[in-house]
Amino acid sequence: MSFSLIPVRDELQVRPGNLFIDGAWHGWEGARFDQIHPATNEVMTTFADAGARGVDLAVKAARRAFDEGPWPRMPAQDRKRMLQRIIDRLYESELELAKLQTLDNGIPFHFSRNTRVSAKAAADVFDHYAGWADKINGETYPQFSSASNMHYMSFREPVGVVGAVLAWNAPLLMFSMKVAPALACGCTVVVKPSEYTNLAARRFAEIVAESDLPPGVFNFVTGGPETGAALSSHPGVDKVTFTGSAATGERILMASGANMKRLSLELGGKSAALVFPDTRSVATTAASLMGLCSTFLSGQVCSTPSRAVVHVSILDEFLYHAGEQVRKVRFGNPFDPETTSAPIISKRQVSRILGYVESGKAEGARLMFGGDTPGGELANGNWINAALFAGVDNGMTIAREEIFGPVLSVIPFETEEQAIRIANDSEYGLAGCVYTTDVSRALRVARAVRSGSVGINGYASIPNAPMGGVKRSGLGREGGWPTIEAFTELKTISFNLDA
Ligand code: NAD
Repeated sequence: MSFSLIPVRDELQVRPGNLFIDGAWHGWEGARFDQIHPATNEVMTTFADAGARGVDLAVKAARRAFDEGPWPRMPAQDRKRMLQRIIDRLYESELELAKLQTLDNGIPFHFSRNTRVSAKAAADVFDHYAGWADKINGETYPQFSSASNMHYMSFREPVGVVGAVLAWNAPLLMFSMKVAPALACGCTVVVKPSEYTNLAARRFAEIVAESDLPPGVFNFVTGGPETGAALSSHPGVDKVTFTGSAATGERILMASGANMKRLSLELGGKSAALVFPDTRSVATTAASLMGLCSTFLSGQVCSTPSRAVVHVSILDEFLYHAGEQVRKVRFGNPFDPETTSAPIISKRQVSRILGYVESGKAEGARLMFGGDTPGGELANGNWINAALFAGVDNGMTIAREEIFGPVLSVIPFETEEQAIRIANDSEYGLAGCVYTTDVSRALRVARAVRSGSVGINGYASIPNAPMGGVKRSGLGREGGWPTIEAFTELKTISFNLDA
């Protein structure tokens, strides 16, 4: 029997969504769109489609608050205290936020509540950035020559009005990663969640709205690509911080030229895990890599290593254990504690992934299992059985393009140099892993892989260490001080002591 998410929706009293602009929620008489749950394709509610008009109102409010309001000029401690209220409310509301996140994108509830994408993790990220508010300092410089008695100092000032455009896979974490540094640095912000996932973001926005920030400092708009494009190209926006696909990132990059917007772009990946014969356990490594592609968000994570580059001597053992891991996958109601894996976010993305599975077969890769849809009681939702391809050549489409779904491609290698060449032969460079117990090799290979981050014997990102991509995987870094630099501008002041 199929399941329904309407009872959870009703228990959480989900209402239609509006826009938060200039310190108030506004009913929206313009167009609206449905938010559909990917596990069942049931309508959760409707949200305002802000479009260019809603974005313009929000950006103008943020502009006024930045140019004329107290926020950018406020003593750091006062700003930090206001942010502290948001952090406290996030912790208090973590259960509700976790449920809403599962009602957004179908991530199994136990993952939504207890992992690095949880509301508690989002609160920790907010806390991390709020902590920077009173530590954003500039520098002084030694006198350069005796020609003048000028003294120089630099100040870090907020970058201005920030437009934040979010992807759908980690709505709470992403909201924090963008809004918290913007506010901590004294910027004003307009945030737009993905059109697929507005519920948890709206609740987050309510919490920020209740914290008594000056009007216009924080604004929340909803909508799809048109709204995102209106925000990221608006002349009143000084900086865009974006997480999403490389294709959208490139559009934003092109549109940002007109007023020289500052950009942080966290984009897609095609990360490689290099598995050497001396990995501590082939079974555990295979289970872990197949697990990343088949459980949790079902491979819909930017940093997931979707290419397993495996030494020929352990290939059969790797494939066997990857197959064993997939037996543990359970689809179903995301609020059921037995469910291990998220649905695919949209019907369109299901067709895209199935197209990649066909291309893998047509180009000569060996489909070991999966790559089809389960049907039965799951037929109403967007589910795909995790696929494992063996005998993949790095030139095949499935090894080159970001699939963003439950598909793992296994590429054999013989020498270390060959493994590194395969890892780097990609237009992406977001993350990667090396599995070995040889410490020299571990660091040598990690240094040789061209990507923003590399994990040795495992991979995870933390909010206080930089994360980001090279090549088509993005611009800039999120995490710690590099983020503070990205949300501030340096101003140099010279002081003539002879005048
Ligand atoms: P997407 O690019 O389709 O959409 C992301 C956001 O951009 C949405 O809010 C969307 O409405 C908006 N948008 C769409 N067209 C736009 C345009 N022309 N101008 C401005 N905004 C526009 O991506 P998605 O499907 O939501 O997310 C999946 C992608 O995000 C994957 O490629 C994944 O790798 C990437 N991702 C990257 C990271 C990271 O940290 N590097 C994290 C999570 C996801």
